[in-house]
Amino acid sequence: MTTVALRLGISRCLLGDEVRYDGRHNLDNFLTGVLGRYVEWIPVCPEVEAGLGTPREAMRLVGNPQSPRLVTIKSRIDHTRALERMATNRIEGLKNLDLSGYVFKKSSPSCGIARVRLYNEHGVLSRKGVGLFARAFIEQFPLIPVEEEGRLCEPTLRENFIERVFCYRRWQDLVQSGVTRQALVQFHTIHKYLLLAHSPQCYQVLGRLIGQAHQHRPKELAHRYGELFMKALAVKATVRKHVNVLQHILGYFKERLGAREKAELLGVIGDYHQGLTPLIVPLTLIKHYVRIFDVGYIRDQVYLNPHPIEVMLRNHV
Ligand code: SF4
Repeated sequence: MTTVALRLGISRCLLGDEVRYDGRHNLDNFLTGVLGRYVEWIPVCPEVEAGLGTPREAMRLVGNPQSPRLVTIKSRIDHTRALERMATNRIEGLKNLDLSGYVFKKSSPSCGIARVRLYNEHGVLSRKGVGLFARAFIEQFPLIPVEEEGRLCEPTLRENFIERVFCYRRWQDLVQSGVTRQALVQFHTIHKYLLLAHSPQCYQVLGRLIGQAHQHRPKELAHRYGELFMKALAVKATVRKHVNVLQHILGYFKERLGAREKAELLGVIGDYHQGLTPLIVPLTLIKHYVRIFDVGYIRDQVYLNPHPIEVMLRNHV
């Protein structure tokens, strides 16, 4: 697996900076304490950077979901233009920073990526809003993995996001070194089982695209592959799909196992299937046999080591 330097954008209040409208912060211990060991954070507080100061009057989104306005709740001052100007300038600067992901603060009218409170002209509340800065960022960088800190409390969503961040970094490295058909085939080969664990449908489409690589110009091929690759990884991996992948991998060396070892490995996969053990248990045993039997094709699969083991993302049941 490639060693990568990761740089992620983050809503600044999540790092513990007191930039919220009420002068407080939203320190997130997982992000700062655990993930922070592997990434460089690029903090952004859109409201402070738009010149609104701290503390400031609370704001909310008003209008229609496609083009809401950012308005203070009591005095009804419209700060939309200030936020939009800030977003345009900041995003221009972020283009040079080669970000591999972004963690946004949930529910914020500037930073929330979904289900933000939105009031229509009659004051009726819906949850159809997207924060102004988050929307501008996602429109500008559609492939960069984004997530809200609230959703990162859920183990599978957390693993999915971090996996996508590491995958996107590898994809960036490939694109920056110049995509050739041969390099793309190699990239696809090592990601096969990871893709299969997320989306068997996209896995097939990507396989066909690679099979017809000679029919496309490298630039066009890279563009189509990159889009579909990130789309596939955004689909949640499930226990059933993991079991399918584990059984595929087992097929590479099961003939070389004795009856007892085979029964033990199948038992461990079965336990995982029933929710009795975390994914790390069958994976550890499989990695052990891959090492012993020196199964090169499997050893190189990103699926076995998609992110640093210390983040402990595969230890949940
Ligand atoms: S949610 Fe966004 S705008 Fe609000 S304090 Fe945090 S970083 Fe600033």
